[in-house]
Amino acid sequence: MVTRRKFIQNAFASLAFAVLSPPPLASASSRIFQTNNNVDLNPEIVSRVQGEKNLVELARTGDFEDAWVCVETPGVKDAYWYNVGKNISRDSVQVGKDTLREINKKHKSPFSLTRYHIHPKKKSDKKVLDLKNVLPHPSKEQYVIVGLPAEGDYLAEFMAHEYERKSGIIWGKNKVVSYLGIAKNDISEELRNILRNIDPEERKPYLRKLWVEACSTGLKADSLSIAIDEFNKRGLKLEYYFM
Ligand SMILES: [Zn+2]
Repeated sequence: MVTRRKFIQNAFASLAFAVLSPPPLASASSRIFQTNNNVDLNPEIVSRVQGEKNLVELARTGDFEDAWVCVETPGVKDAYWYNVGKNISRDSVQVGKDTLREINKKHKSPFSLTRYHIHPKKKSDKKVLDLKNVLPHPSKEQYVIVGLPAEGDYLAEFMAHEYERKSGIIWGKNKVVSYLGIAKNDISEELRNILRNIDPEERKPYLRKLWVEACSTGLKADSLSIAIDEFNKRGLKLEYYFM
């Protein structure tokens, strides 16, 4: 509980800070994104690289997943970043169709759109703990592997692509941010056709099986490049870059 005296002290402290500190830098790129449960259609305008750095920092320090959309226009250096995640938790985040529709309306084509969400470091730490018998002394590469896009991320990618085809609303590509770097995940045409033709209820377990095979091979080999090959071999398209 904050006492009245404490409150006044705090108020003075922040007032003093406001008076003594220089005005904030004009550059919007110095602002760091925040994790919260609100959808914000007032974008931050920073370059793609700066935005990605901000998200990696959030993945390193944050507790929750959250999602952003980055819109880029040809010939324009800075990108528009929208915080779009709702129903955020430690393990998941949702992006609504209505949100994507609104963002589509705000931009004149041609533009490109990328969806990002973060896998916080604490989630990777927990997964490593769960795997302790496989990973007694986890390496950096193994940390990367446990933070890679999971079956749910591939399923979301499949659904987004199907929705984009039917609605004409651009959903763009998906990237998953962890505290060491960024993964881009997609689905091969072959796997897409398989998923279209199986019972919708069966899609997630089907992807789960492929994901477990690919992931565990990479973890056992302690090799990110082997894991990436194993993902791609199974139609779980994956690219990764360290940040
Ligand atoms: Zn995810």
